[in-house]
Amino acid sequence: MTLEPTSGCLDRPVLRERGQREVFCGLTGIIWLHRKIQDAFFLIVGSRTCAHLMQSAAGVMIFAEPRFGTAIMEEKDLAGLADANEELDKVVARLVERRPDIKLLFLVGSCPSEVIKLDLAKAAQRLSGTYAPDVRILNYSGSGIETTFTEGEDACLASLVPSLPEAGEAAADQLLVVGALADVVEDQFTRLFDAMGIQNVSFLPARNAESMPAIGPGTRFLLAQPFLTETSRALARRGAVHLPAPFPLGAQGTTAWLQVAAESFGVDDALFTEVTAAPKARAEKALTHYQEQLTGKTLFFFPDSQLEIPLARFLHAELGMVPLEVGTPFLNKALMAPELDALPDEVLVSEGQDVDKQLDRCHDQRPDITVCGLGLANPLEVEGLTTKWSIELVFTPIQGYEQAGDLAELFARPLVRRTRLEV
Ligand code: SF4
Repeated sequence: MTLEPTSGCLDRPVLRERGQREVFCGLTGIIWLHRKIQDAFFLIVGSRTCAHLMQSAAGVMIFAEPRFGTAIMEEKDLAGLADANEELDKVVARLVERRPDIKLLFLVGSCPSEVIKLDLAKAAQRLSGTYAPDVRILNYSGSGIETTFTEGEDACLASLVPSLPEAGEAAADQLLVVGALADVVEDQFTRLFDAMGIQNVSFLPARNAESMPAIGPGTRFLLAQPFLTETSRALARRGAVHLPAPFPLGAQGTTAWLQVAAESFGVDDALFTEVTAAPKARAEKALTHYQEQLTGKTLFFFPDSQLEIPLARFLHAELGMVPLEVGTPFLNKALMAPELDALPDEVLVSEGQDVDKQLDRCHDQRPDITVCGLGLANPLEVEGLTTKWSIELVFTPIQGYEQAGDLAELFARPLVRRTRLEV
């Protein structure tokens, strides 16, 4: 099954804007990644601002010993008066001694470390010499200069790929699902693939450093998240083959995503239908519940998470919502082709941002729901617009059949709340 195509949408004009943007930096990805990889530690090499962002965004108390922290660069580091590498080595030594549970350490670059051109790749190599094999040390950038919101996960996973073991002949029948998913969603997908006879299934990232998947030429991979351009390239460099598919959001999206794998692995049509029938029916029933509230409601997406296009497709195709503008920070047409193809012709797809111009368009259209970052949500609410925080869509398990109803509810809830406020 493929998603219902509309006419000529792949060639649709895309509005490209390059102005002031309102998005979180890639450090934000640490919030869900540190929960997913249970023996990893994310050491941000940054400023007090970075530390505050993480502290408040993750809502973690200092004494809770979270698996992330900030090596704070002081003014003397920034002015080049101290050897930042020496300072970093001391912080890492203290951390590794105090936390023997850490098996994978990410040095995460930030705006300040980039401004002083601190070479974290070299630092990771140097520190690996001291701590490997007990602790593997990798690096990536989460800086606001280089990355937006979900690109942090992309950079993190791309940094992992070269260190994954070689699968050898086992790669030939291996399915790799790429992108951080809630454990419960992973388990559901594993059961579905298993019932179809696809048994060699791995996930990237794995739940701990030891169980990161081996890959190799012939490994076939499905993306579970749409923001993984660099990771896809890194996997292709290892010989893995991308299976282009829509993303597993909603009953139709999940079916189409699973079907791409099923076709690639030669699963019989009748078996596929038998395995997916019951969960698909459950998802469709859950969605029916929200159709009355959402059908015909207009939607406007500000660019933030790169989930915007698949979400717009789901909300339009499965709930009858009417997307007016779908903004995305970046548009990778190759990864997004099956999704773009299923969007209605008249929707405006925009890439990048010039926030004032986009706010003008939003004000003119007065959508029923505006999906945006936290910084824009409050002012828009004050103006009487109903908003949905895009960050919530990344933190909440929304993929797969069993989560379809929860995903619809995330959009129904703000409308219900607004109606109550107006009564
Ligand atoms: S990395 Fe840059 S944008 Fe992100 S919190 Fe630190 S200073 Fe701010």
